[in-house]
Amino acid sequence: MLRSGLARLARRGYRSVDLLDAVETLSAGSPLPPKSLVITIDDGYESAYREAFPALQEHGMTATVFVTTGHRAGRDPFERLPPIEGQPMVSWRELGEMVGAGFAVGAHTLTHPDLTRLGESEAEAEIVGAKAILEDRLGVSVQSFAYPRGKYDQQAREIAARHYNCACSDRLGVVTRASDKYALERVEMYYFSRRPIFDLLATPLLPAYLRFRAVPRNTRRAWARLR
Ligand SMILES: [Zn+2]
Repeated sequence: MLRSGLARLARRGYRSVDLLDAVETLSAGSPLPPKSLVITIDDGYESAYREAFPALQEHGMTATVFVTTGHRAGRDPFERLPPIEGQPMVSWRELGEMVGAGFAVGAHTLTHPDLTRLGESEAEAEIVGAKAILEDRLGVSVQSFAYPRGKYDQQAREIAARHYNCACSDRLGVVTRASDKYALERVEMYYFSRRPIFDLLATPLLPAYLRFRAVPRNTRRAWARLR
């Protein structure tokens, strides 16, 4: 699904642009080149390195990988990020290799909680703590954030807005100049394995969101509505 979706995008002339560059361009009121695509990958499963990284590179594309760091990171480069739902995650060394190849890293909280169920100080610790760990561990500036499972409320949005340049939600759609940069819409990669999506989403900026596990039922329902 990933490879066929990427191949289809590349064949149609889509090029990946960096998330922060795209947000900056749109914020300045400037248009993006046609067929621009921002690719984001949530969670940092090991498959992001093993499958998505080479597949994207094959097509000259890059992505922003949003990772969940845990409360602290040691110095062992082979240490893996803490598992989400038992899935194996990328190691710090693998993440560093992706950064070295032009991929960006964004924060995705410390422990992947439902931010809408947390008080302000807990939510702030989750949202900001991950940024500090990533910047320390990878030596890069981290300016983008993704809400776990795309879930956010006014409180989470305000905290994200204080600390990041943009935040991604899972709201299905394309980003336009009118988009809230702290609740950016995305489209699951699943859709790109289907031809009709291109006709529906022929807009300047198409942010895609890669998932590696089974497509949840609600995504199928969203797809049915789109058709
Ligand atoms: Zn996630």
